[in-house]
Amino acid sequence: MVVGGGLAGVRTAAELRARGYAGALTVLSAEDAEPYDRPPLSKQFLLAGTDVVSLDRQWLAGVDLRPGVTVTAVRPGLVRTSAGELEWDGLVLAAGAQPRRLPGSDGGAHVLRTAADAYRLRSALVPGARVVIVGAGWIGAEVATAAAGRGCAVTVLEAGVAPLAAALGPAAGARTAGWYAEAGVTLRTGAAVATLDSRGVGLAGAGRVDADVVVEAIGVRPQLDWLAGSGVEVDPASGGVLVDEAGRTSMPGVLAVGDCAARWSPRTGRRVRTEHWDDALRAPEVVAATLLGSPGTYDPAPYVWSEQFGRYLQWVGWRTGGSPSVWRGDPDARTGWAAAWLDGQGRLTGLLAVDRPRDVVQARRAIEAARVLDAERLADPDVPVRSA
Ligand code: FAD
Repeated sequence: MVVGGGLAGVRTAAELRARGYAGALTVLSAEDAEPYDRPPLSKQFLLAGTDVVSLDRQWLAGVDLRPGVTVTAVRPGLVRTSAGELEWDGLVLAAGAQPRRLPGSDGGAHVLRTAADAYRLRSALVPGARVVIVGAGWIGAEVATAAAGRGCAVTVLEAGVAPLAAALGPAAGARTAGWYAEAGVTLRTGAAVATLDSRGVGLAGAGRVDADVVVEAIGVRPQLDWLAGSGVEVDPASGGVLVDEAGRTSMPGVLAVGDCAARWSPRTGRRVRTEHWDDALRAPEVVAATLLGSPGTYDPAPYVWSEQFGRYLQWVGWRTGGSPSVWRGDPDARTGWAAAWLDGQGRLTGLLAVDRPRDVVQARRAIEAARVLDAERLADPDVPVRSA
């Protein structure tokens, strides 16, 4: 049985079947909708008005999908749900994460996680609408791109010193700030929001920014209150279900995968909870194998992409510090550039690429192989990463 009909849950079901599991297989999904892909929601769907993109129906062949069924408690061998109790022999938690709200939020602002959220937001992004986005992270930047593209007057309020500072560090994040101005978007960093409602935000200190559309884009966190008393341990720091590198939780027969899982990474000796499409796609291979009695290890260099202001960003690996060790190309040029992080031994640990996809493919291999690179050669954008 799988809890959650997002990418990780559906891929787990598909992998169980692909590996020969022929028994009963149920996917319980709180959302009352056909499973769909989330990344397009903040991109083509908002900007170009495309449809919601369904997940591959083949992945659900032979699967009993139950949309609109929410799990309310987990006990050995059974789950309580909004549709009664159901028994399980093996259970995979793929419950994703939900948007965080600021303490001063009245809950009236838009968030963007589900297709329903995206429909609501898209209908509000009309030309001339004053749009205030709180948070210049991945989602905030993509919503700003779409809103500007739809002719809205967009302001982004970011509490940190730069966009994407949490993910990329302040120095690399700052290199994206100019993109906002170029698109006619007002970016205010160091802007701490104290209160927030559907008509605007109140800033800490003083002042208020009125708006027609307010979007709260300050990140997501798993909502797992329903695991209380189950014996499945949750990581207080990240809010994710604690799992080992094979996806096993603290409760026998229960695994977790995707945005809701805080996995152990032997590669780094750290616990990692990612919110990346790539992990929801690929980790289910290992989780399904584990459930069927052949535990493997899922421990890749994390990978995420984003489309912002006409640019394609990709980030792979981990940062070893606030600033990159190497700038590869000119961040002010329109031709693409990258920034790399090396550890004390000169091994590549992380790479940000802007419109340089080949760098990322090669960097991922170098990171996973713990290869030492020559910083001087890496700084030359004409030298392939694999040859640096
Ligand atoms: P989810 O997709 O959140 O699915 C979990 C499902 O479980 C949900 O349907 C939820 O309703 C259901 N559920 C929760 N609790 C219960 C319960 N108790 N009972 C039953 N069902 C339950 N990543 C990238 O790498 N690149 C991108 O460009 C990118 N863009 C994104 C854009 C948007 C708008 C969003 C929202 C995310 C984006 N992501 C991106 C992140 C990526 O989509 C997620 O990492 C991925 O979808 C996670 O999949 P998941 O199955 O773990 O969780």
